[in-house]
Amino acid sequence: MSVARSGQLNRGSWQLTCRFLLEITPAGATGASHRLWSVKLAADWVITPAGALARAWVSERDGIIDWIGPAGDRHAPPGEVVDLGHGVLMPGLVNAHCHLELTHLAGAIGGEGGFVPWVEKLVASRPGFTDAEVDAGISRGIAEAIATGTVAIADISNTLRSVLPLAASPLRAIVLFELLAWDPAASEKVLGDAARRLAEAGGPRPAPRVEIRIAAHAPHSVSPELMRGLARAGGPAAIHLAESREESAFLSAGAGDWGAFLERRGLGHVGFDGTGRSPVAYLDTLGALNRGTLCAHCVQIDSEDCRLLAERGAVAVLCPRSNRTLGVGRAPVADLLAAGVTCALGTDSLASAPSLDLLQEATALQRDWPQVPAERIIAMATADGARALGLTDVGAIAVGRSAALAFAAGPSRIADPYAFLVSGDATAAPVAHR
Ligand SMILES: [Zn+2]
Repeated sequence: MSVARSGQLNRGSWQLTCRFLLEITPAGATGASHRLWSVKLAADWVITPAGALARAWVSERDGIIDWIGPAGDRHAPPGEVVDLGHGVLMPGLVNAHCHLELTHLAGAIGGEGGFVPWVEKLVASRPGFTDAEVDAGISRGIAEAIATGTVAIADISNTLRSVLPLAASPLRAIVLFELLAWDPAASEKVLGDAARRLAEAGGPRPAPRVEIRIAAHAPHSVSPELMRGLARAGGPAAIHLAESREESAFLSAGAGDWGAFLERRGLGHVGFDGTGRSPVAYLDTLGALNRGTLCAHCVQIDSEDCRLLAERGAVAVLCPRSNRTLGVGRAPVADLLAAGVTCALGTDSLASAPSLDLLQEATALQRDWPQVPAERIIAMATADGARALGLTDVGAIAVGRSAALAFAAGPSRIADPYAFLVSGDATAAPVAHR
């Protein structure tokens, strides 16, 4: 298909536009057969780092944004105009916390009973599925993320089964290889096995758009010895932190429902008396709270924890819908932002969230915290998420960035694009991927 066939598409035909753009997207970023092409995307609203532009054009050349300005501007670069019509053209979404390998558990585990019973059901359910079922779920999860406008994803994985399907997808991906061992005697073996598995998977950069980093599950499931080992290597890159009251009680006093769970798992012999500290403060004493550490949930935190997260440069990855399912409470988003903590958004897995649609996560956060500006929440889902993952080519509609964009179509002209995006009525769709 040639660019000349695109023409000016009428309003409402953006889905066709999306298919068209995918068809003309070059298969690789470089190569002798690589053909330059240029197109101008027109929309009622365009979300940029400087704010929302009304009736604007975004020009992209060979997959890179090369000009942004008012629709019809005679200074715009040459290229066909693709009019996306009523709706909001935005940076592709960045899902900073999900578990693709749990996609097959969609709807299988309820949150009744709270955090510990949910974990127990999760652990019990995983052996009941074949590798083929898990792989099919990963593929469905990737497809759902792409279809709802996600262009970059941080995927927690215990198995690295998502690496190959992610490498074959158009997504930018950080696979967070999650280690888990409460028995300190296992820590050296776990670290050694992880290094071997990482090498077998192709090392930290197994594909051009995929990176693997080593992560920890949580401070109440990873022994202090293993956590220190990860910290010595500059990690962990990500962790579940301060999610439930049971976690806080265990780390503080060394007992409670989580202690009983560990005993039922055959780990009652591991001594742990509690530290008298919050999960955030405890993790910091192990040297494992660092610049860029992706801390998922951050619900059970106080003002001192917020200050510490900000001081260390850690990232709070908020998953409000998962928190609702498990009944753990709400992360204090306004306090995190006031303390200067970078906040990103994640869907968590379909074992605790209803979808991998990150815009629905943004909607949930807005409903939990109506005082947080919608513009701020959309930044968490895009630019801040990209920065949190260390991705510099996506997350913003800006000259020089990748044109990995999303479009949320509106029924008619929209008065406030940010309010529309978090209203629950907006669904983002991919505009182009590369
Ligand atoms: Zn998670």
